[in-house]
Amino acid sequence: MKALDELTFDNRFARLGDAFSTHVLPEPLDAPRLVVASNAAMALLDLDPAVAETPVFAELFGGHTLWAEAEPRAMVYSGHQFGGYTPQLGDGRGLLLGEVYNEAGEHWDLHLKGAGMTPYSRMGDGRAVLRSSIREFLASEALHALGIPSSRALCVIGSDTPVWREKQERGAMVLRMAPSHIRFGHFEYFYYTKKPEQQAILAEHVLNLHYPECREQPEPYLAMFREIVERNAELIAKWQAYGFCHGVMNTDNMSILGITFDFGPFAFLDDFDAHFICNHSDHEGRYSFSNQVPIGQWNLSALAQALTPFISVDTLKEALGLYLPLYQANYLDLMRRRMGLTSAEDDDQKLVERLLQLMQNSGVDYTLFFRRLGDESAALAVARLRDDFVDLAGFDAWAELYKARVARDGEYSEEQRRKRMHAVNPLYILRNYLAQNAITAAESGDYSEVRRLHEVLSKPFEEQAGMEQYAQRPPDWGKHLEISCSS
Ligand code: AMP
Ligand code: MG
Repeated sequence: MKALDELTFDNRFARLGDAFSTHVLPEPLDAPRLVVASNAAMALLDLDPAVAETPVFAELFGGHTLWAEAEPRAMVYSGHQFGGYTPQLGDGRGLLLGEVYNEAGEHWDLHLKGAGMTPYSRMGDGRAVLRSSIREFLASEALHALGIPSSRALCVIGSDTPVWREKQERGAMVLRMAPSHIRFGHFEYFYYTKKPEQQAILAEHVLNLHYPECREQPEPYLAMFREIVERNAELIAKWQAYGFCHGVMNTDNMSILGITFDFGPFAFLDDFDAHFICNHSDHEGRYSFSNQVPIGQWNLSALAQALTPFISVDTLKEALGLYLPLYQANYLDLMRRRMGLTSAEDDDQKLVERLLQLMQNSGVDYTLFFRRLGDESAALAVARLRDDFVDLAGFDAWAELYKARVARDGEYSEEQRRKRMHAVNPLYILRNYLAQNAITAAESGDYSEVRRLHEVLSKPFEEQAGMEQYAQRPPDWGKHLEISCSS
């Protein structure tokens, strides 16, 4: 276990120089205080969880002090936003404080979001508000606990600093961690500004640090791009299987590592709805739940375009062709498991599609359905779940197919079935209304609800005593909360 001042820094991105990032110091928050910290994320830095409660912790992550070895930098990037190219974005309110490596030798970027203005702030104030910082914190850690690759969050620091959005709010900072903060948009920036030397430096950096095994391949950059395609196909399969809607899949919010990145108006589905749009500002539904699949490919094509100086167009196209089949295979595999199946049959995709259509028509809770499906034998479970459906004949027909499919799958006890299914079907997910309850309490200075919710979501597959209220469908007020882009 380390004390806060014992972290070891190795700032590899900062060493790439001023063409890639700019030195900026964090702008401190007034009266910084700990809102919530993640013990699991602390462990990644070998930090003793007790240090989160010390005043120096809030001062560090509230922008008041810094380690001597930290080299805070605002990174430059660009990206396609809602389909259109924005030539210059960059860290407008976040700073890469430095890269830390732990005793296992893993490097973690420490990125402080809400740290004040930078050369890339454009019209913004460089700040983040408490509500969006809490949402990012909860989502990062909840996704990780579900087994969905994501950037991590160490803590949220609250403050008295006023920040103006639609109304006056309070500033906060979230300390985000990832092995890298490089986005698709980093490559696009150097491609569109026609800086081939810097682009080569960036590509070498990513290859050496994050895809070293691709060095062994005849075409290392192509191997790296393929790997990025694969990771994104797997990631988006997990989003779709677990009902996660990112909301702002711009290429500047896509990680080069294939992890969930940059949280804004995201949501987990309550009722299953393929057309769900979680971003209130997304009028055309570009980033609706089901569109995430083709948009994943669109974003990879944008990255491919930026890699044309290194890789031939034909081979890039070939690699892009891997995305959809890989996505489908991964998705189907996950959905089979969610249905409790251990074998594969050709018609399984249809079985899933029919079920989702029935859920869509009846507004069935996506998470609770699968959890309950595993509570007992297939026959008993479908008999109990039947009441949730409006189209009873349709559901009965599906249930017959499902029971027959389960019978062909093999012999196992109810207990084995429950164990296996509950290990992949969470009881607790980050429903928007749960986040909203925690935010409302936190805005009035009570952080206990954020902490409890974080705790519950860190073990989403385990039924926890006294936590029934976190495993319910939303009340009416919490069903269609409008989450805007403002953060
Ligand atoms: P996002 O929608 O959070 O992914 O942000 C898109 C771009 O706008 C990024 O370059 C952000 O750093 C920048 N940005 C967002 N909010 C602010 C803000 N309050 N101040 C300065 N820049 C911001
Ligand atoms: Mg962003």
